[in-house]
Amino acid sequence: MTFSNCCANFFKLQSILFGFGFWIFIMPTAHAAETSKNFTLVVHGGSGTITRSSITPEIESQYRASLDRALKAGQKILAAGGTSVEAVVATIRVFEDDPLFNAGKGAVFTSEGKNELDASIMDGQTGMAGAVAGVVTVKNPIEAARSVMTKSKHVLMTSTGADEFAKAQKLDIVGPDYFFTQQRWDQLQSAKKRQQIEMDHDSKSKTSMSTEKEGAIQPWEVDYKYGTVGAVALDQHGNLAAGTSTGGLTNKLYGRVGDTPIIGAGTYADNRTVAVSCTGTGEFFMRGLVAYDVAARMKYAKANVSDAVDQTIQTELTDKKGRGGLIALDAKGNIKFGFNTEGMYRGYVKNNEAPVTMVYKD
Ligand code: ASP
Repeated sequence: MTFSNCCANFFKLQSILFGFGFWIFIMPTAHAAETSKNFTLVVHGGSGTITRSSITPEIESQYRASLDRALKAGQKILAAGGTSVEAVVATIRVFEDDPLFNAGKGAVFTSEGKNELDASIMDGQTGMAGAVAGVVTVKNPIEAARSVMTKSKHVLMTSTGADEFAKAQKLDIVGPDYFFTQQRWDQLQSAKKRQQIEMDHDSKSKTSMSTEKEGAIQPWEVDYKYGTVGAVALDQHGNLAAGTSTGGLTNKLYGRVGDTPIIGAGTYADNRTVAVSCTGTGEFFMRGLVAYDVAARMKYAKANVSDAVDQTIQTELTDKKGRGGLIALDAKGNIKFGFNTEGMYRGYVKNNEAPVTMVYKD
């Protein structure tokens, strides 16, 4: 064997051993990446006067089934290694297509008898955000919000411009009749009669927006309680996202925009702290920048997610007589539900476990 042959063989052997060692080293790591990464998804379907005496067991199980369905849609994406943004969109789409909720099909009516929809999304990894307000033809406003975030240079688009943008993005476009539901229409007539602007589940109207004294819950109000929807997710890659979608408040003024499409008010996500989605009387959430307030308490005061949410609900809602709630998920996967109403349709799922759904305070 010549010297050069000997060297060549030595290098061959070395590269075989190195290759082998490389795989021994890499393979368990890759395997661990597939199995040991956690993910979490949290949702809400609106808050309000939701008590055991105000809804029937049948209505409760319908809501639980819908929450479960939405959670499973997002869980599937997260389990497959999808992003938190993808999971939030898929989850909210299920809610938007479900007439039980005040988002997409089943949205509440404005004082003019129209449906004007708002939605937003924020990516906690990049800090990018997108939102639409007052759209009237977009079947899934959360998709339009995502398109604003990923396909435009803007954060918020409104009314005709937002509708046209969604159409140009080839999103599903529908006629205004698509959003009509009889229950919502009846709800508008009742709110008009009582001269109230109502939060979805708050037909009892404890909000400062009511112009009459608190009235008794009417039978139709007991039967039909629907809500704004939201989702927050932490994916296997450690990234947070938050999204919210709504028809707003029943009998709201034509052109009124609430907190839902306002980044920092109704929706916020930052990998360094928390992802938040809100529901309630939007004007209070806007004035108190509720979603961002939770993140700010964690960022500057180093509060944990639970304390931050409790403090925000107290100072920005309860003390100011606002009503509503929020879901929050921190970067470590800790979940917090916060609300000062009687109930909030809500739920969560962790990894491949079964989804958990909740309705009342206790
Ligand atoms: N926050 C929504 C709005 O004010 C309504 C709701 O959450 O039910 O538009």
